[in-house]
Amino acid sequence: MRYWRKPLDFDQVTVPRGEVVIIADRCKGCAFCVEYCPKDVLAMSEAFNVKGYHPPEVVVDGECVNCNLCEMICPDFAIFCVPAGDPVAVEAVISIAAEEDKFAEEEALN
Ligand code: SF4
Ligand code: SF4
Repeated sequence: MRYWRKPLDFDQVTVPRGEVVIIADRCKGCAFCVEYCPKDVLAMSEAFNVKGYHPPEVVVDGECVNCNLCEMICPDFAIFCVPAGDPVAVEAVISIAAEEDKFAEEEALN
């Protein structure tokens, strides 16, 4: 993001950093997250998920500002952002998503 002028409190502001967690198999390849990320952190990958779609991937390390826009805009709850340097939060997102997907699979069988 570029400012049209330098904010007066620029030296006092600490820019937050985030870590992106992508639940690839939930993705339907709509590219909303890629399109709207204000820092152009994401791109669609060449890989396929289990549904045959290309999920996004992080292409610029260290630039995510943890704004959570990708998370809010994703229609399939396939991408999340947590504060950088918090492996517990990353693990929590992955394990909760796995539990939810398992529950959904079981519900679909009943
Ligand atoms: S949290 Fe914000 S800056 Fe980080 S990848 Fe998502 S949209 Fe981009
Ligand atoms: S917004 Fe969600 S479903 Fe769309 S490409 Fe990104 S992760 Fe996949």
